[in-house]
Amino acid sequence: MKWEENVRKVTPYVPGEQPGQSGVVKLNTNECPYPPAPGVRKKAENFDYDRLRLYPDTEAGKLADALCKYYHIRREQLFIGVGSDDVLAMSFLTFFNSGKPVLFPDITYSFYDVWAELFGIPYETKKLDEEFRIVKEDYMGENGGIVIPNPNAPTGVLESVGNIEEIIAANPDSVVIIDEAYVDFGGESCLKLIDKYENLLVVQTFSKSRAMAGLRIGFAMGSPKLIRYLKDVKFSFNSYTMNMLSIELGVEAVTDEDYFRDTVKKIVATRERVKKELSEMGFTFPDSMGNFIFASHREVPAKKIFEELKKRGIYVRYWDKPRIDNYLRITVGTDAQMDLLLDNLRELTR
Ligand SMILES: *Cc1c(COP(=O)(O)O)cnc(C)c1O
Repeated sequence: MKWEENVRKVTPYVPGEQPGQSGVVKLNTNECPYPPAPGVRKKAENFDYDRLRLYPDTEAGKLADALCKYYHIRREQLFIGVGSDDVLAMSFLTFFNSGKPVLFPDITYSFYDVWAELFGIPYETKKLDEEFRIVKEDYMGENGGIVIPNPNAPTGVLESVGNIEEIIAANPDSVVIIDEAYVDFGGESCLKLIDKYENLLVVQTFSKSRAMAGLRIGFAMGSPKLIRYLKDVKFSFNSYTMNMLSIELGVEAVTDEDYFRDTVKKIVATRERVKKELSEMGFTFPDSMGNFIFASHREVPAKKIFEELKKRGIYVRYWDKPRIDNYLRITVGTDAQMDLLLDNLRELTR
């Protein structure tokens, strides 16, 4: 049984639960509570299944054109992948090969250390301050690359583009990845900096603000050089990552700008209302700019609330990890879902 010694052993990322039963109020994985743009449905209903015999376009050309038009970038500045998880994993594989540690915050998206371990990339986490803010000087020493989600997850804290730019400018020798999974909910994108910094990669996703987590579309925007290197690695791994339906339905989501803005506006309005109500109940939280709130109650332990909510069919996210084990990450759902949550929280914290 010597083969087992040569297995690549990893501790996998643990995604939020996807409960099988219906009727659950699912506020645990930051999905969008509203459906995708109406054009997405129409396109899916009219999809010609005969075409599935064929391989999809390796460049996802139609989707790439739609994204380029929307973001005012050129095709050579865009990379598309199977969700931003795929884009981020490819980026780790492509850019973090110096042997020096890659830096990211101690409280952040829990996939970063998993990819680093998987690819054998050394990494160092940098402690967020008491307010869960990034200490920018921490990212100005020698390193093998930097990954910063902005807004951060699971805290929701947004850093200014000015602060991020200082970090990028201080690191001309490594690639800086800004993971903007939640930027559409009130953040300012670093996209405007990609012409200025050849080493900046901005990553976004259709999973949250565009209501398409199930379709798996993510993308990166950066200098033509970065994108070329990323594509070389991707094409050495799997050419046909983007399936036909994702490409076509993705186009519909990008081109319906009004629907997109409306959806985001509704979620932001609900988020701000819920913040007020949570405060009144004795919860504290960083001022989230994502589609979620990272909240802690002054008296009742988060773990207890988490378990009690679950019994009642309301799923939120909880991590039994240092510094955040008294917080709940609550996805902003519809107003009706949030009212139900708030009623239950009122009861549990009384
Ligand atoms: C949700 C999320 C992603 C991944 O999203 P995909 O569904 O793979 O596009 C990446 N980064 C952060 C910080 C996220 O919260």
